[in-house]
Amino acid sequence: MDSKREEKEYQGIAASPGIAHGPVSLLRETELSIPKYKIESDRLEDENIRFENALLSTRKQIQAIRDQVETSLGEDEARIFDAHLLVLEDQALIDETIREMKSDLVNVESAVWTVGNRYIEAFGQIDDEYLRERASDIRDVMRRLLSNLTGESLGDGDRPDDKHVIVAHEISPSDSACIDKDHLLGLVTDIGGKTGHTVIVARSMNIPAVVGLGDLSKKVSPGDVILVDGYEGNVIVNPSDSTIFRYGKLKDEHITLEKRMLALSKDVSQTKDGHKIRLMANIESEKEAKRALEIGADGIGLFRTEYLFLNVRKLPSEEEQYLAYREVAETMGDLPVVIRTLDLGGDKISTARALGMHHESNPFLGYRAIRYCLDNVELFNTQLRALLRSSVHGNVRIMYPMISGAPELIQANECLQSAKEQLRDEGIAFNDDIEVGSMIEIPSAAVASDTLVEGSSFFSIGSNDLIQYLMAVDRLNDRVAHLYEPTHPSVVRTLKMVVDAARKGEIDVSICGETAGDPVMVPLLIGLGIESLSMSPSLLPNAKYVVQSMELQEAKDLAAMALQETDGSVILEKLTEFYDARMASLY
Ligand code: PEP
Ligand code: MG
Repeated sequence: MDSKREEKEYQGIAASPGIAHGPVSLLRETELSIPKYKIESDRLEDENIRFENALLSTRKQIQAIRDQVETSLGEDEARIFDAHLLVLEDQALIDETIREMKSDLVNVESAVWTVGNRYIEAFGQIDDEYLRERASDIRDVMRRLLSNLTGESLGDGDRPDDKHVIVAHEISPSDSACIDKDHLLGLVTDIGGKTGHTVIVARSMNIPAVVGLGDLSKKVSPGDVILVDGYEGNVIVNPSDSTIFRYGKLKDEHITLEKRMLALSKDVSQTKDGHKIRLMANIESEKEAKRALEIGADGIGLFRTEYLFLNVRKLPSEEEQYLAYREVAETMGDLPVVIRTLDLGGDKISTARALGMHHESNPFLGYRAIRYCLDNVELFNTQLRALLRSSVHGNVRIMYPMISGAPELIQANECLQSAKEQLRDEGIAFNDDIEVGSMIEIPSAAVASDTLVEGSSFFSIGSNDLIQYLMAVDRLNDRVAHLYEPTHPSVVRTLKMVVDAARKGEIDVSICGETAGDPVMVPLLIGLGIESLSMSPSLLPNAKYVVQSMELQEAKDLAAMALQETDGSVILEKLTEFYDARMASLY
């Protein structure tokens, strides 16, 4: 290390796991110079034609990037660019730009700049991480459009030939699509959250990434060396030899640990005293089922079907849905496959154009999930028919999200009954005994869970929403993230209440929120009586190791402790102590 370059450590948000170390490559976008001038009214038509041509060229470019990403990364990542195409085709945006040119008599670049920035600002101020990040989609599209109008290149500078870590203020989806993956060691950005597109792409490429680092891109310069810790969210600029050595050891430990856990994940998921625990996978597309099976999942505990409805111009047909559900059912064979009916809400409306949804001020408390489906019975009926048809190809179960009380469950089951009758009349096969579950993710459903036993074959606790509603903490708002406490006594007691109601009603109970995949929480959940846990496939090996390394009575003791304690942080401390002791034996 250059002796003049001092080691400095920064803390950001861990976005994609792994440790990387290499020279900094700064990604700075070219500052486009936008010509802004007044025009005579007789030039308006020419400007309109320029606008139309630029829209067409931009469309072609985005489509080409989409095709490139689809080939290199797959369909899921390529969908990002469908969102860009939607921005480009947004009639409100186009009309407003034309109006701006006409009313202010300005050239098209000027109008695009003004209107685009108006939208970016409006989205950027929304108190919702997901929507805030859509501002970067608009910005990306606007820059491309302006570059086509001005003929200026969007160039991001030359990348070194050696392997490097990219540092940027922000990485747009089209930047990330054009990054040379063979030379990329890690990604570091000033802004961005966990649901950002770049993060999704980094994870899918297994590239360590840390986001939310303030103005780091202004503090580093070419020639600096950077170390990225995507496990903890640390970034160290110009690390000393001893820091590099320390992280090198940490990296080796992680790799060894991951390998050991992966090897163990082939074994049955049961406690030391032989108590079987079902560890299932959460998936978001039919393509992920194969990976779930390979990693040793005991089934699919949650198939979020929303993605079929996102970024589409037209709703998915019954046939399209049936094929997707059938693929998962067939991949999993006899293993259970729990498919959740549509849960698309205010937090995802910007990409849910086909459903004609609108922005709401309290999206998480709004028009979503079963509320939306019971109000749009035709759409619900199409999905239920597709689900029923897929039920003859495997062990398919249906699950309703956001049930708030018995009347909604009854109404949903009536819709299911009607879909069954239609199929029967049409002579189409389905499993008449298909199991139907209620998600318990609203406090009202938890408190009155005994009233939901009738009409449910199982409960699945949606802890992501249940905790946010119990604690009044928006799960996407990083300013109140410290108040989101899965070990809070209210959460522990609520889980117990739901388990008791399920036991009394003799139905199964599982959990499918992020808490289920947190290895520190696993013993507590099992001790409370939850014997089926569903999580992201990558978390399964660690959870399985925890199950295999404990006895059921130990889990019960932890649950008894948690039900007595008054302070969530003490519960967490004790659970962490237990977990650390188990992990120690793996090292
Ligand atoms: C939950 O709320 O815990 C859940 C699994 O559903 P989602 O995260 O999709 O809201
Ligand atoms: Mg939920």
